[in-house]
Amino acid sequence: MKVLVLNCGSSSLKYQLIDMETEGVLAKGLCERIGIEGSRLKHQPAGKDAVIFDDYQEDHSVSVKMVLDALTHPEYGVVKSMKEINAVGHRVVHGGEYFANSVIINQEVIEAIEKCCELAPLHNPANLIGIAACDKIMPGVPQVAVFDTAFHQTMPERAYMYALPYEYYEKYKIRRYGFHGTSHRFVSEEVAKMLGRPYEETKTVTCHLGNGGSICAVRNGKSIDTTMGFTPLEGLVMGTRAGDIDAAVITYLMEKENLTAAEMDNILNKQSGVLGISGVSSDFRDIEEASEAGNARAGMALDVFAYKVAKRIGAYTAAMNGVDAIVFTAGLGENSASTRKEICDYLGYLGVHIDSYNNSLRGKAMEISAPDSRVRVFVIPTNEELVIARDTKELLDK
Ligand code: ADP
Repeated sequence: MKVLVLNCGSSSLKYQLIDMETEGVLAKGLCERIGIEGSRLKHQPAGKDAVIFDDYQEDHSVSVKMVLDALTHPEYGVVKSMKEINAVGHRVVHGGEYFANSVIINQEVIEAIEKCCELAPLHNPANLIGIAACDKIMPGVPQVAVFDTAFHQTMPERAYMYALPYEYYEKYKIRRYGFHGTSHRFVSEEVAKMLGRPYEETKTVTCHLGNGGSICAVRNGKSIDTTMGFTPLEGLVMGTRAGDIDAAVITYLMEKENLTAAEMDNILNKQSGVLGISGVSSDFRDIEEASEAGNARAGMALDVFAYKVAKRIGAYTAAMNGVDAIVFTAGLGENSASTRKEICDYLGYLGVHIDSYNNSLRGKAMEISAPDSRVRVFVIPTNEELVIARDTKELLDK
């Protein structure tokens, strides 16, 4: 069985074509900067050189079409036709209370995902565009949805309840859900292997730091708390999202600036975060560059970001009454040595010491803490695609 995995992020689309007999990746790739100047598709057929297609990608449907063309390309493709692809597994961000597990996609599932769009306005629409594009170009090929929210269903009430009138939980199911569950699940399983300990007996803080970011406390193989909540807006400072904020600021601003709910939502989701503070970009690479060039607001944005991550690591260490390992993953967590260092510099009280040489390396799962570090720190490239492909196969085998 060959499974095409699509992971449509807010500004990116990652894909892998996986042969499930071997779990080998036949081809993989990344569409970056979707909707931003300089977008490109990097397509990597296994064992061959990567090829870049730099046509402008206006939105995710253009990106999906480009991915399918690349996979069947006479020179760079890895399958002769779409017929060789047996199933598509999609990362879907918000499953609300509709989905506690992965599911085969049908009309009813699509409608439920649509209902969750208002809860994840940057992501669910991108996921649905991916599903619709596959349905059009590969009709009849089964598709599976794997939800970011599923892993966090183990959170106890004390972690998922907001202190709002209880009737809103009953009426609207307003509670904390958490996201990036597939990634937190994968890296927490991997780090247990690297520690040589049973997954069911480890305490890990996993830091998924990308354009969107979240931290998870994984105790004994279960998510017990995470920074994102009802929507992916809560928690850390992100590329364009505000993260935690005094809720009173929202009503205050709406009155002062005469804003509608939709306008306020747009400010919080799309104009805030490190983009809002720095005024430079939502992309951490641009902000790091600006900061190095002396832009004080860019430097402040990076400081605010790192400080908040460090505080949450402390909070989750308390929640789990200890921590064995801290893991960094996703675009920023895997690639930005300076961000990891800035965060870990706050964690001296935990006995965290970073090995600066190892911290400067890139591209593979590795330990970056020094031998005398009391808490071990790892960088683990996330592999949501493999988890999605496995769930897809398992559902279709049934
Ligand atoms: P998402 O899937 O939420 O769009 P990703 O996990 O792909 O996010 O991460 C994208 C973020 O990672 C971008 O903000 C980008 O700037 C950052 N990033 C990627 N590579 C680097 C790097 N070498 N240094 C700093 N930041 C990086």
